[in-house]
Amino acid sequence: MDRRSFTKLLGTAAIAYNSGLKALVRGDRVVVVGAGIIGTTIAYELSKMGAEVTLIDKESPASGASGSSFSWINATYPKKPYSYNLLSQLGIDAYKNLEKEINLNISWSGSLEWFDSIDAQKKLLNEVAILKKYPKFSPFRVITDKKAKFLEPNVNFTSNQNIILSEADGAIDTINAISLMIEKIKQFGGLVLHPCQFQGLNYRNGKLSSVQTSLGELEADQAVFACGIDTDNLLSINSITTPKPGVIVRTTPSEKRLNKIVVGPGVHVHQQLDGRVIFGEQAGAPSSHLERLKDRPKDFPSGLFTKQHVDRILKMATTFINNLDNLEVEKASIGWRPLPRDGKPVIGRLNKVPGVYVAVMHSGVSLAAIVGKLATQEILDGSTNIILQDFRPSRFN
Ligand SMILES: Cc1cc2nc3c(=O)[nH]c(=O)nc-3n(C[C@H](O)[C@H](O)[C@H](O)COP(=O)(O)OP(=O)(O)OC[C@H]3O[C@@H](n4cnc5c(N)ncnc54)[C@H](O)[C@@H]3O)c2cc1C
Repeated sequence: MDRRSFTKLLGTAAIAYNSGLKALVRGDRVVVVGAGIIGTTIAYELSKMGAEVTLIDKESPASGASGSSFSWINATYPKKPYSYNLLSQLGIDAYKNLEKEINLNISWSGSLEWFDSIDAQKKLLNEVAILKKYPKFSPFRVITDKKAKFLEPNVNFTSNQNIILSEADGAIDTINAISLMIEKIKQFGGLVLHPCQFQGLNYRNGKLSSVQTSLGELEADQAVFACGIDTDNLLSINSITTPKPGVIVRTTPSEKRLNKIVVGPGVHVHQQLDGRVIFGEQAGAPSSHLERLKDRPKDFPSGLFTKQHVDRILKMATTFINNLDNLEVEKASIGWRPLPRDGKPVIGRLNKVPGVYVAVMHSGVSLAAIVGKLATQEILDGSTNIILQDFRPSRFN
């Protein structure tokens, strides 16, 4: 089925295709599978460049990890080696450009991070020291508890803590960002279909000709897979390890309580520009629970379970944050982290599957803006960008 029939089928008004930009690209019918932050950002950049884009999701946009993410944009110490750290730094810069195009809800407040135990704190200081050896790193300072208290008066720091202040970090409302980009994709003439499940690839004379979906066949010159934890199964590749769950609690908007992204013992907390407070626990479920959770639920089985988890996380947070009273929980959900086997993003063409480009990663929220840009360039002009050379899927062959 071609795009026109699809549009009719869905009863949506066809939007005039941007013929001015279209002249810039050829072989440009791209189906993007997965409307999380990665797939949506790639689809946005592609449609901005004049490609004929269809973005599909088997459930709905932001129904995967992106809808249950802590959404901290950073280039801090876990981003190793240097190539990955640099990509993350470029990620911060790319968001600064993206937010000029789209009114994204990003709070560039910086983050404060510390641990309770002396050992963990020592390890943190050693880890951040490694950043200083890189040719370029995201600015950070080790500050005292007094200075930290001045910056974040409602948080209790104790005097033996050296707190890491990472000034360039931000926090984004990822769900809102996805929805804003989807609006733009539609304005550029793209189609966004959901629920629409990927079912297979069709080839003519060795070239990709269409993508088979639960809504029918979509003509395509190229297909992008940004399906998070489902990517490996769909493409029969072996790039990620067992996904790990994490609980995210999101409140309704309330008065200002926090200035910065607070990465404290056991729990991370930040407050969005719209006043919503977001909590994310540091440790996921113990591995003994993973068998019970093998169907990867996104919600708790009952209101009682939800309440227990919310209470547990708020209790951890109230051990070091003073003013968390009278918060109303909007949503508590379980996110499943797509974890590449070697920790580094997986971005690029699949050599053995013509016409297919893959993008799967953790810290995908931090990386979405830069990956959207670089992947689009590679998809449209067939080039290979040296910045992405360490992240090719072929390393798992
Ligand atoms: C608890 C938690 C906290 C996190 N905190 C941070 C953080 O602070 N900072 C950060 O940078 N990163 C963080 N991450 C990681 C980040 O959220 C993910 O890396 C990112 O959201 C991945 O985005 P994605 O678009 O690749 O995948 P997803 O958001 O999972 O999207 C994949 C989409 O593909 C769709 N799909 C799957 N199969 C099919 C199919 N057959 N057909 C059609 N569609 C399909 C799914 O429905 C889904 O919507 C966190 C993750 C979790 C779980």
